[in-house]
Amino acid sequence: MVKITRVGEEPSLKLSCPKGCGPLKYGRSLDIIRKSTHCKKCKGIMLSKNEIEKWEKKKIPVNNKMKKNELLAFLNAATDGPLDCPKCSRKMKEIHLEYKKSRTMSRHEDMAKNPKGMAGEIAIDWIPIIGALFQFTRFIGEVGEDLTKGKLEKSVTIDGCASCFIFWFDRGEIVQIMGNNVTTKSKNPDVNIAPPNTQPTSGVVTVSKSEVK
Ligand SMILES: [Zn+2]
Ligand SMILES: [Zn+2]
Repeated sequence: MVKITRVGEEPSLKLSCPKGCGPLKYGRSLDIIRKSTHCKKCKGIMLSKNEIEKWEKKKIPVNNKMKKNELLAFLNAATDGPLDCPKCSRKMKEIHLEYKKSRTMSRHEDMAKNPKGMAGEIAIDWIPIIGALFQFTRFIGEVGEDLTKGKLEKSVTIDGCASCFIFWFDRGEIVQIMGNNVTTKSKNPDVNIAPPNTQPTSGVVTVSKSEVK
């Protein structure tokens, strides 16, 4: 049997957390079972382009949407962010993403982001119905609200370096990227594009489509 040793996989130990917690560690963590470069303090993780490609193939209880989400392509549409790249120290880009989520699944995502803040919650990992009766009652209530009010508008901001193609995920953000079809936030959310043949409403400024980028 040939043992393949991958060269250049292990990131240098000199990387520091972009949030200012100190050096990053490489290995497994409580949050992330797969070996990754992460921060023990804030639980953020750093993924390289190669690692992203591996995570795209990862099997998770819901459809893994990481590949579809094409983070590298989003990097082109990103804005300047406040964090320094752990690798090259240049300023990283911020990628503002949004998606829609049911109330129940959204609560599970919040749990992944802040497990301590959810003390008393039963960790029921992606399956909302199993659990105590109050959980079930709440689930029914949430489904009802999803139907009447629509799903929740959620957003997530990922940091990435356009020079070394690495991405930084705060705690729980990787769950949001893998579990949702995300889109880039429109630069001007106040602009609504009216359907064709809509009569202008008095008092509302209208612009033609060519004026809206
Ligand atoms: Zn940190
Ligand atoms: Zn960099």
